[in-house]
Amino acid sequence: MVPRGAGSGLSGGSNAIDGSLVVCVEKMRDVLLVDEGNGYVETQPGIYNTELREHVAQHGLWYAPDPASKDFCSIGGNVNTNAGGLCCVKYGVTRDAVLGLEVVLADGRITRMGRKTIKGVAGYDLTGLMVGSEGTLGIVTMARLRLGPIPPTPATVVAVFSDIGDAGRAVSSIMNELRPSMLELMDNASITAVEEWRSMGLDTSAGALLIGQFDSPGAASDARRLGELCEAAGASETFVSEDPEEAEMLVAARRMVIPALESAGDWLLDDVAVPRTRLADTMVQIQEVAARHEVRIATFGHAGDGNLHPTIVTPRGDADAAARALVAFDEILDVALANEGTITGEHGVGSLKREALAKELDDVQIDLHTRIKDALDPHGILNPGKAIPRW
Ligand SMILES: Cc1cc2nc3c(=O)[nH]c(=O)nc-3n(C[C@H](O)[C@H](O)[C@H](O)COP(=O)(O)OP(=O)(O)OC[C@H]3O[C@@H](n4cnc5c(N)ncnc54)[C@H](O)[C@@H]3O)c2cc1C
Repeated sequence: MVPRGAGSGLSGGSNAIDGSLVVCVEKMRDVLLVDEGNGYVETQPGIYNTELREHVAQHGLWYAPDPASKDFCSIGGNVNTNAGGLCCVKYGVTRDAVLGLEVVLADGRITRMGRKTIKGVAGYDLTGLMVGSEGTLGIVTMARLRLGPIPPTPATVVAVFSDIGDAGRAVSSIMNELRPSMLELMDNASITAVEEWRSMGLDTSAGALLIGQFDSPGAASDARRLGELCEAAGASETFVSEDPEEAEMLVAARRMVIPALESAGDWLLDDVAVPRTRLADTMVQIQEVAARHEVRIATFGHAGDGNLHPTIVTPRGDADAAARALVAFDEILDVALANEGTITGEHGVGSLKREALAKELDDVQIDLHTRIKDALDPHGILNPGKAIPRW
């Protein structure tokens, strides 16, 4: 039984397997309750992230996690991948927003786990266990999600670097001093791909761009301070804007990277995360992987979270290049692990990274994963062959 939301996942988690029954929740789209007094929403899982955000905005409230795919991914999928997004650097990932869940277990029992209170430590955190379990422990049929006030219009800052390592080093000094609501990175290959696809006036000679936003009182001065920190780290130019249209255009350029790369050839998108002091080394080592295997790798991502999406693009139908891309893909995972990072920051393990996960976890943790799966799904009927090393 393969649970499926909107099918936008990037690790094959909701792909059907031989002999499987796909349980797709796409028609379960109702918002069940908006509790304004307590600041939460209860929703069915099939609703798209953007639809939910628009719904709660009518009540003057805000749902924070905003994956770049928010217009076409479901809340159930977000919960089951523990999705991140652009503003998660300040507001946390999906896990931080989930207060409770209704789950259909593998034996058919239905339970409501979690709580309605902000605090609560009664019993094991079963809700936390479900979040990010990629459909292997139950099918989510309701999510209770924490809401907050709608943030004010942000101030935006862009810093241009000639050296990608300098951009990586700037991230640490920014995060140690400031609290951006967004801190995204695009390397030269990402900038060039966007410019080739839709001309946005980006500087294609830049080695990297950092795009930051601040949405608290004093946002403009924080944005200027970010610019100063970037200049101290080697940025050649910085630019601050408080104009919402200009800001939207800059963020749109970042959101365009995936479609731009998609149009450039066959693509293989990776998703690794490293401690932020290792970002600079990781990005330089990814460029070395690209040079070693003669493939184009565009790196972009949620820099403030240390979460990178190195994307390997090869000429369409070039089997030789596709084979080199697969080797490069695995080497990028090794680079992340060597830099004390993880093989997936937000897209999940799915069917794509099970072998790599076995490298990240020690034997004890692999055993614990197997025993948790055994306890909740002894017959292994929920999404077998996905997300955990054995099963
Ligand atoms: C252009 C693009 C940009 C993206 N940007 C981001 C980003 O910024 N951040 C990010 O985190 N991801 C991103 N993604 C990846 C993807 O959108 C997320 O992983 C999203 O959370 C998947 O949601 P979905 O509804 O499409 O889930 P699906 O792909 O349908 O499923 C994903 C997993 O969740 C399980 N699942 C789905 N619904 C349920 C349910 N109700 N109960 C139990 N299990 C369920 C599935 O079995 C599968 O394992 C991006 C993808 C694309 C194509």
